[in-house]
Amino acid sequence: MNFESLRSERIREEAEAYVKERNPARQLMQFIERNRGKIGLVMVLSACAAIFPDRTKEKIEITPQVREELEEEDKIADEVGLLPILAIEACQSVANDNERGAYMEKSGNAGRVVSGFEKMEGGLSNKEVDGIIRALPAALNADIPMVEYRNEHKTLDSKYGKNLQEKSEIAAQYDRIRNKITVLAGMENESASTVVKDIIHEVAHSKDWESNRLLTKKERIDLLRDVVGRVKSADRYQSSYVESIENGDRREELYLKASEYFAEINAEYFTHNTLLPEGDRRIVERVIIESKVDKEFTRRTVAAFNKTIKQIVARHQGRQSPMLAWSR
Ligand SMILES: [Zn+2]
Repeated sequence: MNFESLRSERIREEAEAYVKERNPARQLMQFIERNRGKIGLVMVLSACAAIFPDRTKEKIEITPQVREELEEEDKIADEVGLLPILAIEACQSVANDNERGAYMEKSGNAGRVVSGFEKMEGGLSNKEVDGIIRALPAALNADIPMVEYRNEHKTLDSKYGKNLQEKSEIAAQYDRIRNKITVLAGMENESASTVVKDIIHEVAHSKDWESNRLLTKKERIDLLRDVVGRVKSADRYQSSYVESIENGDRREELYLKASEYFAEINAEYFTHNTLLPEGDRRIVERVIIESKVDKEFTRRTVAAFNKTIKQIVARHQGRQSPMLAWSR
């Protein structure tokens, strides 16, 4: 039996348990019917993590703790839709500290291939880009095997709103399926400090609740809940990119904003840092602490990282910054 049909079977079983246990009628089953294609996609995402035991075969027993977790998922699904919850569910990640160790052994920095940046006029070198990623905590830079520059222009998807689609272009993107960061021509004219921020932004996408294999499922669910809380708070970090996202579907808009907000606060944390509200700093730090692979991590080690960044930026002082491009 292949992985995909196992996943479908488990999702079907869970959906049945959901309906039976909580009886909010057929909502979930109907959702799965409608979104079969998209569910197929999240299944592919989880297939790449062969390191972990196949938990798709485990039978779910509805203990009080599981019930509590499901109720928590329900609450978040009310806010951002059910699809993100299925995507979180589909990401195979660690369940205990032994698995964190095994995963890190296979996911270090040694094998990363950074290519194409020599084609970026006046840009950072492949080595500098690798150096930026390397200087980040292991909890963030683990398992990023490929970073590539491509001299290509790409507009943002319409789901981010007409305004962003028309007035900006994609500077960089993270492909969750291929686990790859691609920097695009949209970054050509950015200042060096923006290039650095955009690269960290993409690295952060690889460690959010949908992709972070170093966090347990519960930790990933909690992370999404707390980031959604920050996006809705009055004292949130003001990212003009996040604030510009517009989608007719209120829940999809909130989810897109949460995904981008998480990437933005990480980029801010590892560059300027002082501008970030304390609530956001704590979220960035919590992901690193919960991942348990950076034993020496403190705010002081972050200051050292900021210094590395400043040195790289200083070498590229001449670059202009029209601020037209956004990373997705
Ligand atoms: Zn992004």
